[in-house]
Amino acid sequence: MASLASCIFCKIIKGEIPSMKLLETESVFAFMDIGPIAKGHCLVIPKHHAAKLTDLPDDQMADILPTIKKLAAATGAENYNILQNNGRPAHQVVDHVHFHIIPKPADAGDKEGLVIGWPTQKDLSKDDINKIFEEMKSKL
Ligand code: AMP
Ligand code: ZN
Repeated sequence: MASLASCIFCKIIKGEIPSMKLLETESVFAFMDIGPIAKGHCLVIPKHHAAKLTDLPDDQMADILPTIKKLAAATGAENYNILQNNGRPAHQVVDHVHFHIIPKPADAGDKEGLVIGWPTQKDLSKDDINKIFEEMKSKL
């Protein structure tokens, strides 16, 4: 897992690695994704280094939503996905919290933007779901 010193997104924030910077606030940085899967695909990151969303202090999130709203509008996209991966099995490659803004043109199908293949959950019975529900509630 990348540390603060070797983290490429921390380096982008500090200007040590070039980026196509879209905007910046006191706590947030936004830039174009270098490997876009759609026109306008960009990233919003908190400046505070944390690998997973759940590692991020609550007060570092305040500017994320307003920034996403501005950038989503700037893409001109009516439809879009916000993607936020946590951990290798969940497709996280860069270990610094980031929110993808991925426009989805209405006629894109699987040619542009996020393509999701939801796995079926038919092996989870109503009883199974209820058990999980009770277990989760007991931990809150
Ligand atoms: P994830 O799989 O959620 O960790 O996504 C990481 C994203 O970071 C990918 O979409 C990459 O294209 C993007 N990325 C990696 N390095 C850079 C970089 N130097 N500048 C901009 N985007 C980057
Ligand atoms: Zn970082």
